[in-house]
Amino acid sequence: MPAFKTAVALSPRDQIPRLNLTHAYIEAKDPALTRDFLEETIQLAPNDPVAHVALADLLYDKDDLAGAVLHLEHGRQRTPAGSSQRPYLDLVAARVSRAEQAEQKLSARESSHFLVKFNGNEDYDTWTKVLDILEDAYRDIGQKLNYFPGKPITVVLHTKATFQGATGSPAWADGLYDGVLGRIQVPTQGALTDQAWLARVLRHEFVHALLHQCVEGSRVPTWLNEGLAMQLAGDNSWPDLDRVMKGDVALIPLSQLEGGWTGFPQNVATVAYLEGNSATAYLIERYGMGKVQDIIETLASHQPMAVAIKDRLLI
Ligand SMILES: [Zn+2]
Repeated sequence: MPAFKTAVALSPRDQIPRLNLTHAYIEAKDPALTRDFLEETIQLAPNDPVAHVALADLLYDKDDLAGAVLHLEHGRQRTPAGSSQRPYLDLVAARVSRAEQAEQKLSARESSHFLVKFNGNEDYDTWTKVLDILEDAYRDIGQKLNYFPGKPITVVLHTKATFQGATGSPAWADGLYDGVLGRIQVPTQGALTDQAWLARVLRHEFVHALLHQCVEGSRVPTWLNEGLAMQLAGDNSWPDLDRVMKGDVALIPLSQLEGGWTGFPQNVATVAYLEGNSATAYLIERYGMGKVQDIIETLASHQPMAVAIKDRLLI
């Protein structure tokens, strides 16, 4: 990085050293990567897709969705259709653009750890309650997982009517943590929203948000991810698996519940959630939260679940 900086100082109008320095900053997540810096790079080298995407990231974090959509589109157009980056860029561009459409009329309010977006006319009361619940979750769940997120988490309150269209979530979902967008989305009914339900859903999605930031780029198996969300949400509404397991319910091996569940039909999804909940409850009860933290730490270092279990639980 110091060498690239020197090169830029020696030859400030030359594209190559400027791009090298920019890419090095991006890789290192260097604080020098500011909006001004990226705009200067783009002026000098307008055809580099990476600078556009990095600027889109920055604008997205500041909740400037329109700006993010614009630069994602620039980045996408400058990335060849056959390249390995392109499918992910296409996905992100589509998601951000959908969020931008859905959230144009929403107001936003910040606390130190959250940015909450809501429909200003209807939902002011809900917004206040949501922040209380979230700040509680921040302290309580952060302590249990021994992890506190490094940057504010965005939470979007949709109306029940617009939730599915705005998020593309399956019909059975109560709330959603979108890992691509890094935000929690929840359907509310304004003043009619059931407070106990709201606390459960927000805490549940907050666990997903926390785990996502904590393992950054690696994956927590879905059964453990959902299991922890259910356990730490303080959600006692789920029956024990063995009490439901009467008749011909087919159990699914946990190893088959590590990937995504969104394609599951409702009855299979129910069994999957119950299994994830039971397995996680057993894990916490038998080995303790410290061991669960150890497993998550191992997963964060890009190890598969089987290795994490073997290394940390010795089974
Ligand atoms: Zn969940």
